[in-house]
Amino acid sequence: MSAEMQSYIDEAEQALLHTYNRYQVVFDKGEGVYLYDMDGKKYLDFVSGIAVFALGYQSKEYNDALKAQIDKIIHTSNYYYNAPAIEAAKKLKKISGMDRVFFTNSGAEAIEGAIKTARKYGFLKDGRTDHEIIAMNHSFHGRTMGALSVTGNPHYRDAFEPMIGNIRFANLNDFDSVMAQVTDKTCAILFETVQGEGGIYPATEEFMKKVRALCDERDILMMLDEIQCGMGRTGTMYAWQRYGIKPDVMTTAKALGCGVPVGAFLMTEKVGANSLVAGDHGTTYGGNPLACAAICKVIELFEKQDVLANVDQVGAYLEKRLDEIAAEFSCVETRRGVGLLQGLVFDRPVGDIIKEAMERGLVLINAGTSIIRFVPPLVITKEHVDDMIAILRECIKCKC
Ligand SMILES: *Cc1c(COP(=O)(O)O)cnc(C)c1O
Repeated sequence: MSAEMQSYIDEAEQALLHTYNRYQVVFDKGEGVYLYDMDGKKYLDFVSGIAVFALGYQSKEYNDALKAQIDKIIHTSNYYYNAPAIEAAKKLKKISGMDRVFFTNSGAEAIEGAIKTARKYGFLKDGRTDHEIIAMNHSFHGRTMGALSVTGNPHYRDAFEPMIGNIRFANLNDFDSVMAQVTDKTCAILFETVQGEGGIYPATEEFMKKVRALCDERDILMMLDEIQCGMGRTGTMYAWQRYGIKPDVMTTAKALGCGVPVGAFLMTEKVGANSLVAGDHGTTYGGNPLACAAICKVIELFEKQDVLANVDQVGAYLEKRLDEIAAEFSCVETRRGVGLLQGLVFDRPVGDIIKEAMERGLVLINAGTSIIRFVPPLVITKEHVDDMIAILRECIKCKC
């Protein structure tokens, strides 16, 4: 590493709060599916800023759209209408099949909105103020107090107790465990369609359908967190779309703005008409013209570049190549995932393998301690997968 890059890292460690154990690299620019550090070293990127930069870096049309918006107006208040937000909401409704949109600045903030929607929906139904939400063990929904309260991982929560109240936990894909938590106070059931941080566990079709039926029967809101698994990552715009069901409320973020911080929570007309009203919720930045210009262009480019077809093809290929790795190395227990959201489960911590990969010019990320997560830009090709596999194989050989 150059002295210059090292000095940046030293300064960062002086100035930034130590909430991350960062890899020893300063990334300087991106191009396509490659990142470059300050010293000009090139890296193949299989992280995309954690499932964010779906279209790859330096998409000219995306950059041009943002520049044009900057030259017009970056921000107005939500007390006024702005054209990019109207267009973005229309497009988001179309790709999701949901009816009402609230734009946020992040994923966690979208979860906060979903929680408030559920509580208000319950309140309007029976006037009670002790409603319960059922969330899942091993889930991840973000770091704010509300989002943390529905995150089923004590490691993230313990030091920050007390959480918001009346959250009960069940297990994904174990419908009986959900039933065991249902009471007459339950107002919502919340889970990720594919658990991300928790270890790349897709919900089963049976689980989805049973939860849907339960929610219909008892007028409980089915709320799906699509912040990581949505926006094409599994081959449909939203991961729930392959299950033949529809949630009442959903959250989206990460790849939605492809790098501009933005998220949203969406709901059906029925929920919209029976939950949040003027004065109940707000945000200064959420859905500002710059963020919404990004959303508009992202959704447009998804269609124009047929990103979903690429995810289907390259996702299937990635699956096959990772299965080969799982068969070849005894330290790899299994592969699981959908589309371009994949995990390789090891019998040991994967930190050293990921560090070795960085040395060899490949950016990977973990999910938990023993899983390598693959969340590349959605525009990668089979050749990129081959390049990644070649480096990964060397790293495993050298560290297992
Ligand atoms: C990343 C993530 C969040 C939190 O999003 P932030 O933008 O980091 O607040 C919530 N849910 C899931 C499933 C995520 O992957």
